[in-house]
Amino acid sequence: SASAPVVGRFAPSPTGPLHAGSLVAALASWLDVRSRGGRWLVRIEDVDTPRCVPGADRVILGQLAALGLLPDAPPRWQSTRGAAYADALARLVAQGDVYRCDCSRRRIAEHWAAQGRDPARFAAAPYPGTCRARSDVDPARPHALRLRCGTPQAPLCIAWTDRRLGPQAQDLTAEVGDIVLRRADGLWAYQLAVVVDDADQRVTDVVRGEDLADNTPRQIHLQRRLGLPTPRYLHTPLVLGPDGHKLSKQNGARAVELRDPLAALRAAGQVLGLAVDAPDAASWRAAAVRAWADAAAPGGRFGHCR
Ligand code: GLU
Repeated sequence: SASAPVVGRFAPSPTGPLHAGSLVAALASWLDVRSRGGRWLVRIEDVDTPRCVPGADRVILGQLAALGLLPDAPPRWQSTRGAAYADALARLVAQGDVYRCDCSRRRIAEHWAAQGRDPARFAAAPYPGTCRARSDVDPARPHALRLRCGTPQAPLCIAWTDRRLGPQAQDLTAEVGDIVLRRADGLWAYQLAVVVDDADQRVTDVVRGEDLADNTPRQIHLQRRLGLPTPRYLHTPLVLGPDGHKLSKQNGARAVELRDPLAALRAAGQVLGLAVDAPDAASWRAAAVRAWADAAAPGGRFGHCR
């Protein structure tokens, strides 16, 4: 409800230290909560274990602390949450929402090649639903579990309003297809873990990088199938690397410099359009909280609402 206490979270994957791009999301989420008297949580999203870097979680938590971005509760690690994800999956299975899929990337590529699709765009192609009506996928062999996301006859169009980007819509069926909940290697998919934890932690406001905006309809569909509330969403501007793509380790993102917290905060604030100046990090944070409150008010840059 509108009166629920504000809860925000920063949910980094521990694949490396905080860099200029991920700091923008962390700072925005922290400012949003601090300006509205809420609780700020940090969740380490370590489900994709092959991509995790040992120790990166501790490095990120240390960087946040050095910047004065302190959570209101001990961090949670998703690697401890398997039982909750299994429980949510079991409910979806009982509803008939889930099916086994043993498609390889190659089988999916061959499907789209046969339809005349450009191979350069296979990575962005939806899952074509090859296994959705099969009953012969061998449960004893490696297989993914997929969530039904509409049919060509009854496509699922999800509309939502981003607090910064305004009204958004996606035809989940045509643009994404049935999403993976548990991978063939047995790992939980990001979509299931994030939805279960956002609800379990009573998150009211998801603030994260714009690269994740097009994941939101998948998460809303999952929330609806699980009977969970949909939080508000705000997707922050991306910091671009020298190659014009989102800043990441792959294009040379460096760890946030901790010798000068004020400079790091100021740079992240600039990306968010916060014109704030202050002599030290603590007074910068206080001034930024006030500037954020203005931007997040109705009619402000982050003031779109549902
Ligand atoms: N763990 C995800 C990432 O670091 C972010 C998840 C989220 O904020 O929803 O890219």
